[in-house]
Order: sequence, then C-alpha cells, then structure tokens
Amino acid sequence: MKNPPSLLVLDTSAIMARNIDLWGAECCIPPSVIDEIKLGKLKRDLDNVISRLKVIAPSEESRNAAHSAAARTGDDPVLSSTDIDVIALGLQSGGTVVTDDFAIQNVCRSLGIAMESATGTGIREEISWTYRCTGCRKIYSEPVAICSVCGHEVKRVSRKNPARKKKS
Ligand SMILES: [Zn+2]
Repeated sequence: MKNPPSLLVLDTSAIMARNIDLWGAECCIPPSVIDEIKLGKLKRDLDNVISRLKVIAPSEESRNAAHSAAARTGDDPVLSSTDIDVIALGLQSGGTVVTDDFAIQNVCRSLGIAMESATGTGIREEISWTYRCTGCRKIYSEPVAICSVCGHEVKRVSRKNPARKKKS
C-alpha cells in the first residue's frame, strides 16, 4: 500500500470536489487557480478551505518544463495557462497533483509527477493522441488543423479508444 501524500498541489477541480479535509495533507495552489476560482461560482468553496492553502507561484523554469512536456504529449492545445501553473507547481514542489482534468493528468504522468483524482474516480492510463480528419477520416500522427487531402477539420482522438469524446 502506498503512503498518503504529504504535499498536495490543487487545481480548480480539486477545490470543486470539496473533499480536501479528507486528505489531511499540506496543500498548495498556484495564485492563478485562486484567481480563476474567484471569478466563478466556487468562491464559497474556496473560502471554506483558503486558510489551509499555501499559495505558491510556479517558477518560470518549471512553467517552461511543463509547457515542453505538454507539447510532447500533445495536450498543449487544451491546457490553459492555469493548468500549466498546476503542472509546474507539481514539478517544482515534488507534491502530488490533485486534479480531474484529463490533460493535466496526462502531462503529469509523462513528467513522473504523482497524481490523485479529486473525486476518487482514479487516474486513467496515459493516452497518446492521434488526429483524424472529420471528412475523409484520414489519420495523422502529428497535430494538423486542416486535412491536406479533403480540406476538412482534423480533430484529436485517443489512440486507445478513438470513439470516446475528449473533454476540452
Ligand atoms: Zn480529409
């Protein structure tokens, strides 16, 4: 059995899951996530736990590392600047990232960052992406916006289960 994590890095989905008290670990959060939550309907959830959160800004260096990793895994297009902050903070703090965002999980895995899902639903396996034309269904291995064969939009699909809809 693995030891419970001693330091957690939270993203918005972790605050939203409202089970932060169950974790009993030190929690840190990037300032951008705090800002993002304050803009939305989760402000009360944040107020309930803010005293337990250590606000830490990720360094430029770890942000760059997170960006490069996201580009490698192909998650770059769906990650916000806030998401990158969460990954970067996980990288520099050595903590466990708590998120239900699939793209964040994917990049964390590629960087060897420990993860927990916010709702306890578990972490799925890393998925490599493939790109499929919405018109002629041609498959591309690299991200392409427009199909070179028929000119239709090319969408990202998971290689393991091409039928599954990707949250964006
Ligand atoms: Zn096509």
